[in-house]
Amino acid sequence: MTAVPVPVDPEPLAPPVLAVEHLRKAYGDLVVLADVDLEVRRGECVVLIGASGSGKSTLLRCVDLLEQVDDGVVRLEGQDVTDPRVDADAVRARLGIVFQGYNLFPHLSVLDNLTLAPVRVHKVARDEARDRALEALDRVGLREKAGARPDDLSGGQQQRVAIARALVTDPVVLLLDEVTSALDPELVGEVLDLLRELQADGTTMLVNTHEMGFARQVADRVCFLGAGRILEQGPAAQVIDDPQEEPTRRFLARLH
Ligand code: ADP
Ligand code: MG
Repeated sequence: MTAVPVPVDPEPLAPPVLAVEHLRKAYGDLVVLADVDLEVRRGECVVLIGASGSGKSTLLRCVDLLEQVDDGVVRLEGQDVTDPRVDADAVRARLGIVFQGYNLFPHLSVLDNLTLAPVRVHKVARDEARDRALEALDRVGLREKAGARPDDLSGGQQQRVAIARALVTDPVVLLLDEVTSALDPELVGEVLDLLRELQADGTTMLVNTHEMGFARQVADRVCFLGAGRILEQGPAAQVIDDPQEEPTRRFLARLH
């Protein structure tokens, strides 16, 4: 019998910054998430893979409190944020989320796209919001586009601006939902490069993707979601290249 490599935990003693425990979410009779357990540690990039419709987006939306969970708990830095007494807006301010389409406001400059929520929603002073926005644009390499309109940017640049907008509040966890799937193939590389830089900087991320190449390149850990559960997890080299569970094997086989 060949030995299965033991996953190396980057910070074995660090408590998870995000913990999803026994999460259940159904839409009517459709149980999308039956019993999900998932942890993300500080500085870790966890990539969630699974078939279309397996509930990857639903899971991120539950974490961001955009969906009400039926059962189970989401903990952010130890706090149960699914407790109904918790202020959901305050929780969302500690997270950054980016969806597939970049959802930038076309009538606003790049800079104004980044300062809008901090100024309007979080009551950050305009000058400070501007400084933070420029810093975030620096991180994605687009400071020189601060005055541009989204329409004047390429799709890849627009997605990098959307990521900068999510970074502007210095989120505890950055949640990325299929951030390359709306892009033309030649534009995927720049977003991938950015995610690798963020990962190298120690940005904590939970990333949904159906692209295995993408998962291989950025993941510290890959989690396979199937039948409403995390069925298998570990380094990409293990989960993608040498899956142990039958549903993971079937899913990967269908991609080839
Ligand atoms: P994935 O992101 O893995 O493709 P989703 O989380 O988008 O999967 O969807 C999981 C399942 O839940 C799908 O069958 C989808 O049709 C269903 N679903 C998602 N959102 C809703 C909703 N608001 N109402 C009803 N069904 C939904
Ligand atoms: Mg999805």
